[in-house]
Amino acid sequence: MNAAIALIEDEPDIRKMLSGFLTQNGCTVREAPDGIAAAKLLAEEAFDLILMDLMLPGISGEQLIADLRTHSDTPVIVISAKSMLETRLEVLRLGADDYILKPFDLSEVLVRMEVVLRRAGRTQLPQMLRVGRLTLWPAENRACWEDTPLSLTAKEFQLLLLFMEHPKKVYSKANLYESVWNEEYCYEDNTVSVHVSNLRTKLKKASGSDLIETVWGIGYRLKEDAT
Ligand code: CA
Repeated sequence: MNAAIALIEDEPDIRKMLSGFLTQNGCTVREAPDGIAAAKLLAEEAFDLILMDLMLPGISGEQLIADLRTHSDTPVIVISAKSMLETRLEVLRLGADDYILKPFDLSEVLVRMEVVLRRAGRTQLPQMLRVGRLTLWPAENRACWEDTPLSLTAKEFQLLLLFMEHPKKVYSKANLYESVWNEEYCYEDNTVSVHVSNLRTKLKKASGSDLIETVWGIGYRLKEDAT
């Protein structure tokens, strides 16, 4: 991911971990350890995305978002230990684009960032994705197995797009739900399983083999021999 990230977090360990992880994944990261430094950084530089804690010394995350939204639509993802539903709603109402609860999974942060950046039009999907004999054209909502067009619903298409973007990655149900449905996954339900199962059936019909693998207790990914 080639993106300029502002990382606003006062806990040195978390900041260091996120910064290292994002840099490894191709991002350019600028850090601010408190609210005052953050306000200065955001005033002076332009970013593709802002990752922000809420409980910060100096100026709170809530205040930073409110100030930012008076003049900028740079996407903001809040990473906070504040789990109250009201806090989350308030922060989203202030203009944050997503909310990740601490403790968090690093790969989930990356997935959420990709989704937010894409929604904001800040990253460009490739014109065409190809994994094995599967081909997908993101902008055209079109996918094929070899020369056979796949007739997919919007959700199935988005699921396949995620699987094909990271063919080796195992996506949890929560990952998939939050990326494709863009809502917080807070209870175990069948939505994801049903849509994955429908996609799986369609892929199987076209290809003659099962292209999606269930990794028990973790989630789903494209089958290695399919790719
Ligand atoms: Ca904090």
